[in-house]
Amino acid sequence: MLVLGIESSCDETGVALYDSEHGLVAHHLHTQMAMHAEYGGVVPELASRDHIRRVIPLTEACLAEVGLRLADIDAIAYTQGPGLGGALLVGTSVANALAFGLGIPVIAVHHLEGHLLSPLLATPRPDFPFLALLVSGGHTQLMAVHGVGQYQVLGETLDDAAGEAFDKTAKLLGLDYPGGPTLSRLAESGDPARFTLPRPMLNSADLDMSFSGLKTAVLTLVRQQEAQQHGTLDEQTRKDICRAFQEAIVEVLVKKSLKALKQTGMKRLVVAGGVGANRQLRAALDQAAARRKFEVFYPPLALCTDNGAMIAFAGAMRLKFAEPAAGFSVKPRWDLASLPAV
Ligand code: ATP
Ligand code: MG
Ligand code: FE
Repeated sequence: MLVLGIESSCDETGVALYDSEHGLVAHHLHTQMAMHAEYGGVVPELASRDHIRRVIPLTEACLAEVGLRLADIDAIAYTQGPGLGGALLVGTSVANALAFGLGIPVIAVHHLEGHLLSPLLATPRPDFPFLALLVSGGHTQLMAVHGVGQYQVLGETLDDAAGEAFDKTAKLLGLDYPGGPTLSRLAESGDPARFTLPRPMLNSADLDMSFSGLKTAVLTLVRQQEAQQHGTLDEQTRKDICRAFQEAIVEVLVKKSLKALKQTGMKRLVVAGGVGANRQLRAALDQAAARRKFEVFYPPLALCTDNGAMIAFAGAMRLKFAEPAAGFSVKPRWDLASLPAV
């Protein structure tokens, strides 16, 4: 079965083709980052309009790349939520209109299930059950995953998501939106020993986390350093602060993951979401895995942040829920736990 996947929940338009026998066939992406950078964050109305411009050309690019036609598609998966209402509406209406015209079924996909299952697009691919560390721009959760649609939240952030903390901290350091990846690049040439930032909830008995205090701690450190340096931070100080921030986040994520592995007795850890692209996080988890004898899996680097491939794949896992295209709606808020098990 050939599934077309369409993602448009935020500021990336992603389209992909996934074949249930042959795997990922094609995927194309357009990121709106540059467009939103001017405003320092995602402008919902601009996002929707841009999805409209991109979704058909990206679909055509996927088909052309592998010499297929619309008529070769068996089903269309689309992100129904959660996300920005107007942005979701673009992918949802295009998916339903195309499916209606082609006389094929649609599959409504939960964006976070897309992220959660994306490590299954890599080789080697993890078997169920596994512990998932979902670290994206809007979510930071530890989950026990027993199968498709069987997700149990074990712990989560009580305030900012890890990706959000990266982006907000980058902003207060004067880095361009979205600053997470830039911050982590600067951190690589920072001195880990110069500054130490707090590790909120590191030793709490539960698996919850908190990252908003860290941002405030960075602000205090920046002010203090600026005062010492007569107004502006020198480049090395900025890098050292980035490093201190990243050290703190990574230590919390690793320690909580290890605690969850111990608690559940699971031997496989799967990392998903944009922060899963972070090199220091990957290195720290790989090291812990070698020491503590568990396996760790990541999505292919290009599929950590939003993309159509994870939506096509999640759709292919949910083919039995495919239904004829009829009326449609979006779910800007949608609880992952409400999904039926496959
Ligand atoms: P959600 O899926 O929760 O709705 P989202 O779709 O915005 O949120 P993703 O696309 O999974 O989130 O990830 C984007 C986030 O990942 C951003 O916050 C970005 O800063 C962060 N990110 C991307 N690359 C890196 C990196 N190398 N290091 C740290 N953070 C990163
Ligand atoms: Mg994005
Ligand atoms: Fe996402």
